[in-house]
Order: sequence, then C-alpha cells, then structure tokens
Amino acid sequence: MKVFVTRKFPDRGLKMIEAAGYEVSVSPHNRILTPDELLSMTAGVDAVLTQLTDKITKDVLTAWKPTVKIVANYAVGFDNIDIVVAKELGIAVTNTPGLDLVNETVAEHAISLMLALMHRVVEGDKYMRSGSYVGWEPELLLGDNLSGSVLGILGLGRIGARMAHHAVRGFDMKAVYYDVVRNEKFENEMQAEFKATPEEVLKMADVVSIHVPLLPSTYHLINAERLRLMKPTAYLVNTSRGPVIDEHALAEALHEKVIRGAALDVFENEPLMDPLLKELSNVIVTPHIASATEEVRQQMGEVASRNIIAVLEGKPPLNPAG
Ligand code: NAD
Repeated sequence: MKVFVTRKFPDRGLKMIEAAGYEVSVSPHNRILTPDELLSMTAGVDAVLTQLTDKITKDVLTAWKPTVKIVANYAVGFDNIDIVVAKELGIAVTNTPGLDLVNETVAEHAISLMLALMHRVVEGDKYMRSGSYVGWEPELLLGDNLSGSVLGILGLGRIGARMAHHAVRGFDMKAVYYDVVRNEKFENEMQAEFKATPEEVLKMADVVSIHVPLLPSTYHLINAERLRLMKPTAYLVNTSRGPVIDEHALAEALHEKVIRGAALDVFENEPLMDPLLKELSNVIVTPHIASATEEVRQQMGEVASRNIIAVLEGKPPLNPAG
C-alpha cells in the first residue's frame, strides 16, 4: 500500500512506515502544494500524511474516497481538514496530541523570548553587526533583571505552568496567574498568586506571558484598553495563538511606549505580521517555531506514522481528530 507525505519533515516516522512494509513517497517540493498538485500526487494512494498548511476540503476528500483510508495530520490542530465530510466518507483523520515534550519546548521558547527581550539580545546582535559598537559604555542597551520581577501568566495550563516553573525555580521570579480554573497545587508549590481577573495580572506583572487556547472567550484578550493597564516598564510574550492579541493595538502601544517591549511567536494573520511591528526595535518576532526542535518534530512524525500503520492494518486510529 502507498503512503503520500505532503511535505518533508524529520524522518524517523517515515522509516517506521517503510519498516511496516508500505511504500512512502514525499512531495519533491519543500513548500505548500497547490490543490492540483495535491490531487495529482495523491492519485491512488492509501494514506496521506498532511501538514496544517494543506487545505483538505470536501472536494479533496471526495476525490480521495475510493482509495484513501486515513489522513494523518502532522499537527495538534486539524482545522485545515473538513472532519465532518471525512467522517461521512469513512476516511479516518488523526492528529498528534499529548506529547509532553511539546509543552516543554514551547515553555522553553517562551523563556528564551523573555530573556532575549529583557537582556536586549536581538538589539545587541543588530548593533554589533551594523558596526555601531565603538567600545564599552555604562549605559549601552540597558535591560531589566528577571530575578525578583513578577511574571504574570494568562492561562496556567500545561505550557503556562511549565514556563512559570522555570521562571520561579530558575530565575527567582514571582508568579501571578489568571485562569478560568484555579490550580491550588501549583500555587503551593510555586508560591504563586491567583488573580480572579486578567486585569489584576496585567496591572502587577513585569512580564506577561500568554498561554490560553484560542477560543471566542480569548479572542483579543489583549486589546488597547488592557495594554494600558500594564506598567510602562512591562513586557508581553505570546507563544499561544496570534488572535489572542489585537496585533495592531499592540504595535501602536509599543510604538507609543505604552509598554516597554514584546516578543511574539504567533501572529493574527500568519504568515503576515502588522507592518508597524517591523519598524520597532522593542519587539522580537519568531516565525511560529516555539515547538520546533528536532526531537519534537521527530516525535510528531512518529505519532502520525503510528496512526497510518494502525489504520492500514485495519485497526482503529490511535489519535482520532475531533
Ligand atoms: P492547555 O489546554 O493545557 O492550557 C490552557 C489553559 O488556558 C487552561 O488552563 C485553561 O483553563 C485556560 N483557559 C481557557 N480559557 C481561558 C480563558 N478564557 N481565560 C483564561 N484562561 C483560560 O493548553 P497548552 O497545551 O498549555 O497550550 C497553550 C497554548 O499554546 C494554546 O494556545 C496552544 O495553541 C499554544 N501552542 C502554541 C505552540 C506554538 O508553536 N507557538 C505550540 C503548542 C501550543
């Protein structure tokens, strides 16, 4: 049986599929396939391993129906796939949830953004490369200490709790948090303080790190009004989902120095970012790479591949989406 992979990724998982006796072909283009390319390259295959950037619509699924038994999405999310139609057509859809290392990796990235912001690492790098450095200066690129400052977490789930743990244990920060669910065990272990509203966290934090899911209740959780509640010396870090922040309001707030700085891994209209952000030196941006370590991407491939092998062996999918 044949398995088609829409884009190259770290290959431990693909070796598992081959070892199970299936034929694997990977798109020769290291980019998003056009709908026509996707359909022509998948003609007659039994399974497709897709990326979050592939749009698996009703038309695509209908074309796949005669042969395709499973669409294994290489992502935790699966909003790129019409799972209702897939179900009607009897095509299994799976995702890659529940990897502990993903949580750890995103928490590490959030910490790295916070450190880079407060120690002005990216500005320093640009300064050196531009040849501006002419010798040590007592007031060159002054930053702020993590130690003793207050970290405000919005959304104390798996990733938020790991980030707070590293900040408290590793950098002697004090944690305050807002979540719709209170976590008293965490409060006791980390001497953390729960606040009943996001406003209270925004007012007292030196750094705010966002870890809520994107839901109607969290859309534009950070808006112009709430940014004005933050200290003028405060920083904002977002590794959750772009639309949780009103990105243009944030760009304006950074421009007007309403807050000191921000670091973003996710954007409201990816792959674009607000043009004003590009002009500002008090913002650090990374291209949605918070979970991008070699080992995480290998493990995601293994989960997707295990699902394909199970379904091609006639067993139920291990991680059905939805
Ligand atoms: P999680 O479900 O473990 O935690 C989310 C927390 O947010 C929960 O404690 C929940 O109670 C809380 N919450 C839900 N609605 C809320 C609201 N309205 N107000 C306050 N709190 C609310 O999720 P997680 O695995 O920790 O992921 C957190 C975020 O990180 C998600 O947005 C996820 O999409 C994102 N993420 C980003 C990347 C990346 O590459 N940048 C990778 C993985 C996850």
